Amino acid sequence: MAHDDEPVQLIDPETDPLATYVLEPDDVRTLLARVVTSPGHETRTTYAPFTGGPIAAVPLSTPDDVARAVRSARRAQHTWAALPLRRRAAVLLRLHDLVLAHQSDVLDLIQLENGKSRASAYEEVVDVAIVARHYAVRARSYLAPRRSGGILPGLTGTRVLRHPLGVVGVVAPWNFPLTLALSDVLPALVAGNAVVLRPDPQTALTALWAAEQLEAAGLPPGVLQVVVGDGPTVGAAVVEHVDQVSFTGSTATGRVVAQRAAERLIPATLELGGKNPMYVADDVDVETAAEGAVRACFASTGQLCVSIERLYVHEAVAEEFLAAFVRRTRALSLGAGLDYVADVGSLTSAAQLATVVEHVEDALTHGARVLAGGVHRTDLGPFFYEPTILDGVTEDARVHREETFGPVVSVYRVASDDEAVAAMNDSDLGLNASVWTRSTRRGAALAARVRAGTVNVNEGYAAAWTSMGAPQGGRGQSGTGHRHGPEGLWATTATQTVAVQRGVHGLAGVPGIGLRRVYELDAEQWTSMLTGALRVMKALRRP
Ligand code: NAD
Repeated sequence: MAHDDEPVQLIDPETDPLATYVLEPDDVRTLLARVVTSPGHETRTTYAPFTGGPIAAVPLSTPDDVARAVRSARRAQHTWAALPLRRRAAVLLRLHDLVLAHQSDVLDLIQLENGKSRASAYEEVVDVAIVARHYAVRARSYLAPRRSGGILPGLTGTRVLRHPLGVVGVVAPWNFPLTLALSDVLPALVAGNAVVLRPDPQTALTALWAAEQLEAAGLPPGVLQVVVGDGPTVGAAVVEHVDQVSFTGSTATGRVVAQRAAERLIPATLELGGKNPMYVADDVDVETAAEGAVRACFASTGQLCVSIERLYVHEAVAEEFLAAFVRRTRALSLGAGLDYVADVGSLTSAAQLATVVEHVEDALTHGARVLAGGVHRTDLGPFFYEPTILDGVTEDARVHREETFGPVVSVYRVASDDEAVAAMNDSDLGLNASVWTRSTRRGAALAARVRAGTVNVNEGYAAAWTSMGAPQGGRGQSGTGHRHGPEGLWATTATQTVAVQRGVHGLAGVPGIGLRRVYELDAEQWTSMLTGALRVMKALRRP
């Protein structure tokens, strides 16, 4: 691990009130020293979205540093995997407590680097706590050998084992700095893997804080390595050296990662973009549905892979629902502040802001109108944009199909459940969806018809996301593989089938009884015996 004497450019306490809340410069220096770098490395100054002021000069790794990080991780992995599972699980349980105990530090960091509201940042704290608890408690059953039978009952004892793959690579984006730094790391670790984590440079401090907490929780040094740098160089280098990769990001980049993983024949879990639909049926309580829609569309300033960007409303309740939805959206408070005052924070970067502005302007050019928002709030900070509801969006507008990844939702009216389902499924993406109806039975039936990896009934995204035992992932262009549940852990393991043939050397120590007799049959006797056995097995409905 490299250490350096780079000055840390923290926000100036004289000029910026946010500075009084964040970590001390020495603490930031300690965090930054965790990045695997070489002497003479470059740095990237990151800027706080709330103010545009500098946060820190983040050290950048090179592709060679990544190769070195993977080698070190590989060495550390053997000892880590050799520990009893309960010792690895105990690290996750301690992490759970540390993250909750020190939440205000990490809430500051998330807000500082990402710009989201504190309430949205808190969702990440909860998420990490429940991921840690879930895998600490469930890893034993998820990793337990599975028994299976051979061709004839009793003849073969088969067990399916799960081994750690080795070094898992996690390439994480900037939109959920804590959640996406740890969601895939924790199951990989508890399964006995080492991990090389590449956070986005913009949110490196949060990821480094997470690494520090893991070590404080008892993770041996070296088992988790953090490299920082751009996607096409450092992110790509991770894919180049690890034994499995978990990538979270856009569909376009996911395709690049998938190609390289395929060439290397390593498994890849790809959690990609969404253009997630919500349906509001004709029997809803409109205020409840409108309140849910506000959270589903604008939490984390809409920079949330599972947030809602298409809203289909049954025409019977459209007028009433939209009145409530618009009123509640307009009432949201925007603001910068490391406290729970503002409902909605800032976008993270100029690039995100540019996409949001482009999508809204393009929609207006194609005939849409703004029901709420549509304003870049330069008075609050460089990247604030009001939560925006668009009506009358036409099929040729970009926002109709392309992911905005910002606080913009398009509303459409539908005349029936069938029309709603058809419209929801009219997308190449299939990450998340939401259905609102008083009848949970109707909701569940509708959900099963929607082509999406998760569907929430009477909730926007959190019900499925926080169901830790259930897989979370995309269909279509939204990705392959899953996080959460046994699937999220199994993705980082190799399955091995060990089949023990019984009776070959005689049964109960008596030579001449057992399989040896079968081996002495001639082909005709053998095939006729087996045919008879197969018929009996089918009659007995043996699997
Ligand atoms: P992006 O694809 O541009 O970048 C994602 C990350 O990949 C970045 O940190 C980038 O540095 C890195 N990267 C770029 N090229 C790479 C390469 N060749 N090899 C390896 N890594 C590379 O996406 P973004 O705009 O930064 O992130 C937002 C996207 O992420 C949205 O599309 C969003 O829906 C998606 N996302 C999905 C989930 C999910 O769980 N499905 C969660 C959060 C975000």
